[in-house]
Amino acid sequence: MIVILGAGPAGAAVALGLRRLGYPVTLVSEWRRFAALEGVSVRVLEALRGAGLHQALAEAALPSQRQVSWNGQQHAQNIEFLLDRPGFDRGLREDLRLAGVEVFEGRVLTVQTDATGHRIEIEGRETLVADFLVEARGRQAPALGKGLRGPETVSLLNRWQAMPGSTASAVESLEDGWAWMARRADGQCYWQWTVDVASAGLPGKAQLLDYCRQRRQGSAMAQAFFGATPEIDVQLHARSSTAILCPQVCGQHWIRVGDAAMAVDPLSGNGIFQSLSSALQAPAVINTLLRKPERTALAQRFHQQRVEQLFLRFARIGRDFYADEQRWLDQPFWQARRCWPDAEVAHAEADFAALKIERAPVLRDGFVDEAEVVITADQPLGIWHVQGVEVAPLVRRLRTEPAERVLAGLTVEQGRMVRSWLLGQGFKP
Ligand code: FAD
Repeated sequence: MIVILGAGPAGAAVALGLRRLGYPVTLVSEWRRFAALEGVSVRVLEALRGAGLHQALAEAALPSQRQVSWNGQQHAQNIEFLLDRPGFDRGLREDLRLAGVEVFEGRVLTVQTDATGHRIEIEGRETLVADFLVEARGRQAPALGKGLRGPETVSLLNRWQAMPGSTASAVESLEDGWAWMARRADGQCYWQWTVDVASAGLPGKAQLLDYCRQRRQGSAMAQAFFGATPEIDVQLHARSSTAILCPQVCGQHWIRVGDAAMAVDPLSGNGIFQSLSSALQAPAVINTLLRKPERTALAQRFHQQRVEQLFLRFARIGRDFYADEQRWLDQPFWQARRCWPDAEVAHAEADFAALKIERAPVLRDGFVDEAEVVITADQPLGIWHVQGVEVAPLVRRLRTEPAERVLAGLTVEQGRMVRSWLLGQGFKP
């Protein structure tokens, strides 16, 4: 029996993928304990559609033009979609029900794992026994050792009711952190302040709400955004938002996905995107571990490398965004974040002569398999196909043969896409 813990986007995407491969799936989850609003890009909506999470997608219908104030400059950035998490989470449950996933409502207390399987103790229920376990409890999943951690960060979410108005969202950098703010047409308001745990000097719990209010009132942008209407029923919820990469994300009969595998800094607005990325590849990894155990090491390598690569990519993009803020170079919040995780570039320059061809794990017909891929500076795990065409044999031939001959057998559309990819890799015809 396969048991998934956690009904967030990651757990739900794995459950649906496993159902498509014909596996019966049991999922155990409790509901989230607070009502957040999160912003996602159109890419997330596409990924949700791709994962078959249509009911959850239907809840993400609030487009908002995001205002950004960073390094003293104001601009209206692209559209983000505001996702009401309670509604979104209900949509995920509905998707699970429609896919025939058995969902147990309850809090997982402990998981005991040995060579034969897992014993899952659930509050108020009988112990569940699983042959294979998918850990998708998000940031609440028990840690598996130290892993890689970014600067310790906490986000204080304030939520209150104001007068109904229009939907809007904004981001603002502050001397000791940054704030994301959003307003829904029904008057629900959100202000989320993200600070450095070590240096923020936050007061005790009893004073925290007042302290947040003072900080909000000290920001001209927040004042203009929320207006002067009274704040009714203000709630505070603190969430850890430290970037965390779990040291091991795949065993012989378990896998971690979503935030349980890697949780990114909320600045990127990419949490749901990355949680879906690791979840969408998991069903093929699980299928391989269960049905082709001779490929265990390959399947584990596939999942581990992809999770690590995704984590570092987001971490470096985040670092560059923090480095764009130049006004408070001496402040601990900015100092710590503009140089983590390392100094490597987020996007490496293309260099056709430096492309390498290697055998690497790929996904083929619902399993992890091995194939020749093209390793580029920007895609160190390799590219296998472009528009259905294997690129490794083409790149090898292009080193000695003219492009017209190498690309001769492709259809017009394939030729166009492959040429465009080659140019992007620095190929000079
Ligand atoms: P989750 O969505 O966390 O789901 C885990 C599920 O497991 C939940 O249903 C939970 O109730 C359940 N669970 C946990 N423990 C137990 C237990 N013991 N027993 C039973 N069930 C349990 N992402 C964005 O895309 N845009 C944003 O604007 C954004 N803002 C964020 C702001 C903050 C402050 C933080 C911390 C994160 C933000 N994220 C954002 C990230 C996003 O919330 C996560 O990346 C995403 O929800 C991860 O999905 P998941 O399925 O891995 O885990």
